[in-house]
Amino acid sequence: MTSDRGAVPDSSNPDVVLVGGGIMSATLASLFGIVAPDWSVTVFEAGPALAGESSDAWNNAGTGHSALCELNYTPAGPDGRVDATKAVSINEQFQVSRQFWSHLVRGGMTGSPRDFISPVPHVSFVTGDEGRRYMRARYDALKAQPLFAELEHAEDPAVLEQWIPLVMAGRDPQQAVAATRSIAGTDVNFGALTKLLLADAETRGVAAHTHQRVRDIERETDGRWKVTVEDTRSGEPRTVRAKFVFVGAGGGALPLLQRTGIPEIAGFGGFPVSGMFLRSTAGPSWSASTRPRSTARRPSARRRCRCRTWTCGSSTASTRCCSGPTPASPPSSSRPARSSTCR
Ligand SMILES: Cc1cc2nc3c(=O)[nH]c(=O)nc-3n(C[C@H](O)[C@H](O)[C@H](O)COP(=O)(O)OP(=O)(O)OC[C@H]3O[C@@H](n4cnc5c(N)ncnc54)[C@H](O)[C@@H]3O)c2cc1C
Repeated sequence: MTSDRGAVPDSSNPDVVLVGGGIMSATLASLFGIVAPDWSVTVFEAGPALAGESSDAWNNAGTGHSALCELNYTPAGPDGRVDATKAVSINEQFQVSRQFWSHLVRGGMTGSPRDFISPVPHVSFVTGDEGRRYMRARYDALKAQPLFAELEHAEDPAVLEQWIPLVMAGRDPQQAVAATRSIAGTDVNFGALTKLLLADAETRGVAAHTHQRVRDIERETDGRWKVTVEDTRSGEPRTVRAKFVFVGAGGGALPLLQRTGIPEIAGFGGFPVSGMFLRSTAGPSWSASTRPRSTARRPSARRRCRCRTWTCGSSTASTRCCSGPTPASPPSSSRPARSSTCR
């Protein structure tokens, strides 16, 4: 159970304060449970519940950033050749995450993996001759890499209709199309994982407080951090002092880090990232037909943000889509209101 205390004592001096109740703080709370089980850890979450922002499953696309379909990790050079270095590095990091989660599952710290990770094919889709050239070059660059050995490539619309039927529905048969598919893809529910990790951490003494917004972080002369926390319901401020503070506040991290005055934050900025999600209640047949998760690339999109995505995934209860400039209009009943995903 999340501590919902309006009574964080002024004199509380935990070893560690974790700001934000998303997947980042939850992961660190788990790590502390393994490597420093004697340390006292306190989590402050501004919202009314844990994992209510980016980590919530409805607010992200859930690819786990494995680089299997995210085209922004495989940029093409001026000669058209694709550099796989970043994709390989990202996928290696994702494998480390999976190993960590396996460790937690074996240790009984997260329940069943089915509660937060499930297999979903990842598909990248492009149109036009330039898109096709890029996709071939990307496939050539990745296929030799052991982590991408299962990647498939196709330009035949009949194959793509099998892979991504909704994306192909109603499309001009003369249009040049291409895609890659990885059946090794996964859907990670970071919201569920966050809650599982923090619930386990709380059984080991971690205190997770909701409705507590961190307003200020200052270094004291003894090296400790003075953390000023405001109860969002009563407006009452409190202070706690900690040896270490981790700012896992998502979009709220930057201003807080700037307030600390640490030199490392100089020069950092942020830009808004958003996503529109389409939830279908049309039933299992529609869900089944959108099972793959796909991302698309359009040359015009690169001017602003290098890549935009069209992402579909399915769960047992419903289907959700994160929209980008769609390569083709989906059926009118499922057309997203606008397109805005950039990663
Ligand atoms: C549209 C979209 C699509 C995405 N798609 C993918 C994807 O396909 N694959 C993937 O791996 N990742 C994806 N991501 C990224 C992923 O969701 C995030 O990287 C991850 O969830 C961030 O976790 P976090 O803990 O840093 O932040 P969050 O989950 O946002 O948690 C931060 C928490 O801090 C709290 N907070 C903020 N300020 C304060 C404060 N002052 N005091 C106390 N609490 C505060 C917030 O309320 C929030 O609960 C996507 C993100 C978006 C937005």
